[in-house]
Amino acid sequence: MISQIPTICPYCGTGCSVNLIVQDGKVVGTNPNIRSPVNEGKLCPKGTYCHQFIHSPDRLKKPLVRKGGVFVETDWETVYQLIAQKFKSYTPDEIGVLASARCTNEDNYVLMKFARGVLKTNNLDHCARLCHEATMTGLTLSFGTGAMTNSIPDIGESECVFCLGSNTFEQHPLIGRQIVRAQAAGGKFIYADPRYTPTAIQSDLFLQFFSGSDVAVLNCIMGEIIRNGWEDKEFIASRTREFESLKKVVLQSRYSPQNVSLLTGVSKEDLLLAAQWIGTSASCTVLYAMGLSQQSGGINNVRAIANLMMLTGNIGRPGTGVNALRGQNNVQGACDMGCLPGFFPGYQPVTDSLIHRKIGRIWKFPDGICPPKEGLNITNIFQRAGARQNGIKALFLVGENPLVTEPDQNTTLHAIQNVEFLVVSDIFFTKTCEYAHIVLPAACFAEKDGTATNTERRVQHLSKAINPPGEAKPDWEIITDIARVMGFEKQFPYHSPDEIFGEITEVCESYHGMTYARIRHPDGICWPCPFDDHPGTAILYSDRFYHPDGKGVFCPVEWKEPSEIPGKEFPFRLTSGRIIWHWHAGAMTRRSKNLADEVNEAYIEIHPSDASSARIVDGDMVQVRSRKGRLSCRARVVSDIKEGMVFMPLIFDSALNRLIGLPDDVQTGISEYKPICVAIEPAGEE
Ligand code: SF4
Repeated sequence: MISQIPTICPYCGTGCSVNLIVQDGKVVGTNPNIRSPVNEGKLCPKGTYCHQFIHSPDRLKKPLVRKGGVFVETDWETVYQLIAQKFKSYTPDEIGVLASARCTNEDNYVLMKFARGVLKTNNLDHCARLCHEATMTGLTLSFGTGAMTNSIPDIGESECVFCLGSNTFEQHPLIGRQIVRAQAAGGKFIYADPRYTPTAIQSDLFLQFFSGSDVAVLNCIMGEIIRNGWEDKEFIASRTREFESLKKVVLQSRYSPQNVSLLTGVSKEDLLLAAQWIGTSASCTVLYAMGLSQQSGGINNVRAIANLMMLTGNIGRPGTGVNALRGQNNVQGACDMGCLPGFFPGYQPVTDSLIHRKIGRIWKFPDGICPPKEGLNITNIFQRAGARQNGIKALFLVGENPLVTEPDQNTTLHAIQNVEFLVVSDIFFTKTCEYAHIVLPAACFAEKDGTATNTERRVQHLSKAINPPGEAKPDWEIITDIARVMGFEKQFPYHSPDEIFGEITEVCESYHGMTYARIRHPDGICWPCPFDDHPGTAILYSDRFYHPDGKGVFCPVEWKEPSEIPGKEFPFRLTSGRIIWHWHAGAMTRRSKNLADEVNEAYIEIHPSDASSARIVDGDMVQVRSRKGRLSCRARVVSDIKEGMVFMPLIFDSALNRLIGLPDDVQTGISEYKPICVAIEPAGEE
């Protein structure tokens, strides 16, 4: 018998609805959901083949315990007892917990409650720190909160789409489709990037600039808008404050089109045309992703974008907004669920004594909860793991593989090797599992019910299609069982994700009006949904921002040189990004035949004239060196990239992370991913 079970694609933050085709207990194919407003019956290649890793022989099927240097299979009760005993032996400051942007809201909520209620620690974080922490911090300063302002279908309504730091047609292909919709209705598409990507091909105006010069480009455009009187004076007067301070900065001569053209490599005429299109269109929307946020100056980049959209009155209306395209399928949800060191669910600060008391009352832990102080973020956790004094001694990683995904791999490896107790829950035996003391087999997206929140804040339902392999279980169930063994059965009474979701809606105000019955509908619901029957909110800030006075705040920023600039030893600027065939660390896509057949090894793109001066031929193995590390991979000589820049995809055991250092920006914990400077030479030479 064949059945079709509706769920959500496990890859990017677009959150496309997909039906899994199930035959005899196996998922044999996929079918896009035509009723979804997100993907309207379409899928990209990753979504189309998202079933192919599910039945991989590599799936973990039994709990594993390390004994005498080897892993042996064991039963759940034994590992629960071991974990409970060990966790009880550490103080809250000695434990770090990592959640996962690929797990459901219910998995993440239960883990967050376990960390704060059972382990009493706020040392809790996840990989959003590495990609969009700048968005949260930057947009909170400008608007009072940090999330994508408009919906995905709304992008297609825009008269002018301005995209920078995002190769949308490869990273979020079904959002790219909305750009085409906007163009088909007569809208214009401006694209800024160092590479001539598939997204650039579709653009009406392409600004090929050097990575790291985003603020200079944005300030220049704002200066021209003001000089030409294209700013929205009424919006500025009624909805914002601090406009004069913005004016002072962007009208400086250093941001004149002449100067910025010299600095960025974009022609003066193109900068002026971009300013005209943005300044005179009836609606303009900005899309951006990690190209913009994954820099040490990421917060300033985000604030500059918020400034531009407030300057032109492009907030709170259809076809407008600041739209940060989130990476993984549930990175928005993991943040919403409070898997962050400073926030309970719904971005309620752990340091606020009233909120702290309120959460304590709801959870009812007899011995209290975490202290009202911010915990360590993911970067600090790894810096402190394995340290002799005040160190993190135990780590609980759920769906995270830091030995692939973290920057500064030397520090991460040292940390992973030196913690006294490492528990990893995952669907495959990852590189990080090799160093674990206990490995737990988790269910994948097709094997559990739950919810995920996509990049546009849309909460959608996943339905279980098949049973997990062997003894694997959903993470919420594993964590609930550990909590029970540790004596917290009353606080973890869950028998189904539906029950957990009920508690989420009690704790998290923006989810208050949601129920499984409501979000099982193909539309899902975009938060905030504050009460029963509330339809959800597709567009934020229609009449007020979230600052107490309701105003948006202009936060002027100056362009600063990136922390690394090319020189004799490291002559190339390296940028990085995703490609259409693979996802994140590649654990799932590399086990999907149709995707792995397309691209199956790491590579670096280099411009023909740079390749020629470095004596590199297309297909050569090359050595890539940065100040932090080195790696070897194959060279692709392509004219799509700007001279002086090179590009690597973010996959393949993320070799790239060997080249990236620890963050300079302690506020966000974001490393300088782009641009960093590297040297390239034929393999064998140094
Ligand atoms: Fe999946 Fe993203 Fe592709 Fe949609 S666009 S099918 S969510 S990878």
